[in-house]
Amino acid sequence: MCERTTRAWIEFSREALRHNAALLRGRLPAGCELMPALKADAYGHGAAAVARELMGMGVRAFCVATAQEGAALRESGVRGVILVLGYTGEQDIPLLTRHDLTQTVVDLDCARRLADRGEPVRVHIAVDTGMHRLGVRCEELEQLCALLRSAPLRVEGVFTHLCAADGVSSRERAYTRAQAAVFREAVRRLRAAGCAATKTHLLNSAGLLHYPELGGDYARVGIALYGTLSTREELSRCGLELRPALSLRARVSSVRLLRRGECAGYGMDFVAPRDTVLAALAIGYADGLPRALSGGAGGVLLHGCRAPIVGRICMDQTLVDVTDVGGVRAGDTATLIGEDGGQSIHVCDVAAQAGTIANEI
Ligand SMILES: *Cc1c(COP(=O)(O)O)cnc(C)c1O
Repeated sequence: MCERTTRAWIEFSREALRHNAALLRGRLPAGCELMPALKADAYGHGAAAVARELMGMGVRAFCVATAQEGAALRESGVRGVILVLGYTGEQDIPLLTRHDLTQTVVDLDCARRLADRGEPVRVHIAVDTGMHRLGVRCEELEQLCALLRSAPLRVEGVFTHLCAADGVSSRERAYTRAQAAVFREAVRRLRAAGCAATKTHLLNSAGLLHYPELGGDYARVGIALYGTLSTREELSRCGLELRPALSLRARVSSVRLLRRGECAGYGMDFVAPRDTVLAALAIGYADGLPRALSGGAGGVLLHGCRAPIVGRICMDQTLVDVTDVGGVRAGDTATLIGEDGGQSIHVCDVAAQAGTIANEI
């Protein structure tokens, strides 16, 4: 799918996405629909391509982080609800009506700013039930309703975000249930105050997998849709056959022979313990490859064999020891995430090697 001149690229598997979406749909509580999270370019998979595929499966609601992301999706032909989950600055507010986006009321101040414009912006109210990141605090709900009554805003939903649904400890499980209880109460009070929000939603990937009984009209699923969870442990615990939808590959740009004792890369970090065949790959930390994979922490697949990353990862290049692979030449394809010749590198393993979670990778 890529020309030989391409340095590095991702491959997005539509089949894997469809498989995951079908699997997750099978887990939805009654009356609940998918609202896939397409923020950050659909976690790096390409938001337009992901949205197109999901629309083909009948998905009619999406969420993004910013109004700019929402506008870009509209421009690529995405229909249905597009909920902007995050903060929208003054400059971007016109995008909401221009592209028929739904804005989250992230706090009282946000509600005032939107109301002051006097435009019929669609909104979902975020309720802070315990994450304390965004959302209207419960003691401010009546004030919010009073404000909304005199504004032309169209309140179409109310939601909250679970911050510990992936946890197994009794503290995390109790906190999640408490968040859900606070949310139910908030919805009740909003309705009692005449704020007839139609849709409610609170499940993310972990919420859907572990607390489907909490229900709602939408499940805002991100990471699971892309075929993984944050860590290996979570993935094995969920018991779903999710398929990673992303592969990351890079071109071998140059191959050389090092004599035993010669060094390579910045800081002379790698010293060849034997005569070594070294390949340079056309990918580096500016491409998003975590520098923490340096010095043997990470590896790649070449010709179906594992080759360790050696020395320090550079801005746009990376060295790998291909002595044991054999026959590596400039122009070959290295796999950093994904499958090659029956072997595979899972994004969760890369995340663990880099000291982070699969979402960030
Ligand atoms: C990112 C995000 C989601 C999706 O979370 P996943 O864990 O990837 O499923 C859902 N809701 C909100 C508010 C988010 O920010």
